[in-house]
Amino acid sequence: MTAEQTAALVPLEFDPTDPVALAQALVRCPSVTPAEGGALALLARVLAAEGYAIHRPVFGEPGMPDIENFYARIGSEAPVFVIAGHTDVVPVGDEAAWTRAPFGAQIENGVLYGRGACDMKGGLAAMVSAAIRYRRENPRAPGSIAFLVTGDEEGPAVNGTVKLLKWAHERGERFDHCLLGEPTNPAAMSDMIKIGRRGSLTGELTVNGIQGHVGYPHLADNPIRGMVRLLAALDAAPLDQGTRHFDPSNLEVTTLDVGNPATNVIPAQARAVFNIRFNDTWTPETLAAEIERRLREAAGNTVRHELRFRPTNSVAFLTEPGPFVAMVADAVEAETGKRPALSTTGGTSDARFIKSYCPVVEYGVVGKTMHQVDECVAIADLVALERITHRLLASYFAAQHKT
Ligand SMILES: [Zn+2]
Repeated sequence: MTAEQTAALVPLEFDPTDPVALAQALVRCPSVTPAEGGALALLARVLAAEGYAIHRPVFGEPGMPDIENFYARIGSEAPVFVIAGHTDVVPVGDEAAWTRAPFGAQIENGVLYGRGACDMKGGLAAMVSAAIRYRRENPRAPGSIAFLVTGDEEGPAVNGTVKLLKWAHERGERFDHCLLGEPTNPAAMSDMIKIGRRGSLTGELTVNGIQGHVGYPHLADNPIRGMVRLLAALDAAPLDQGTRHFDPSNLEVTTLDVGNPATNVIPAQARAVFNIRFNDTWTPETLAAEIERRLREAAGNTVRHELRFRPTNSVAFLTEPGPFVAMVADAVEAETGKRPALSTTGGTSDARFIKSYCPVVEYGVVGKTMHQVDECVAIADLVALERITHRLLASYFAAQHKT
């Protein structure tokens, strides 16, 4: 008997089809990256009791803490519907600023408070509850449901989803569709489904001059002058006009450093860092080439500069709207009365890794308080997400029956 099977013999102290109770239990696990905090053990206990096969692969890398990950599956046939997420949370920050205990999972006026309540233990709890309720009601449902959960999303994301996907693939696991439960809604549960994400590319630009006395400028070469010219060239023309499902790509200079405390010295060097959030017009390679071209043109023979791009695993991707995306939108609309927007806005997520294995759509609770002091989720939103997920699973597997 495995540890999970033994643990499953101890009855749970709450009903796992209640998304609020499950979310509370998860929030009470202090799983700040890289700590597992008992969160994955709790999921294992809950899902093992429902007949899921449980795996908890640990991944490591020299010089980094080992990270626990989680994979559970019920059913042995295709199609495999994957629900993905993470149980790790960002640090509490200034604990004195919290008005409720960060890991207390207190409920007040219909709101559940705690680190991870919104990003994304609440969403994960609602989806686990929905999957359990669906399989209890449909024990002979076709296909399989799998949970792919990492403890390394908020951290370096090296020993998390990337390795977990590869691990599953090597074991012969094949996924048909994935729902990632990140908080996608800006204000209400009917707001937004994410069907893609922009990519991210960071560049470091250095301009070299000649240090000298401000009073003798002909003996020096001020690198700030060249830097201003180069940065202006990066900003001069839009990178693109946006595409069918994406906003225009955007470049932001994030820092500009000379580090010169003297007012009578022309500095020797100026450094800038910029980050580009780019759409599906570009790959990191074509975008880097365009940036290099713009800088070369602006620099001419006068501005001595060096450009370096940091490695990125963040490419732009899109899950083309089709039957699966429509099915998710239908489920949201049926439960909320409003059709959600299909969006590719915001930061990056683990969906950028999952998309190489199967189509992925993101949908979860309202994200307003993610990473904030007094992070919270509305009880009504947890209940709605449980119902939406249940409806989605029912229509997904019903559609398989017909074909
Ligand atoms: Zn998250």
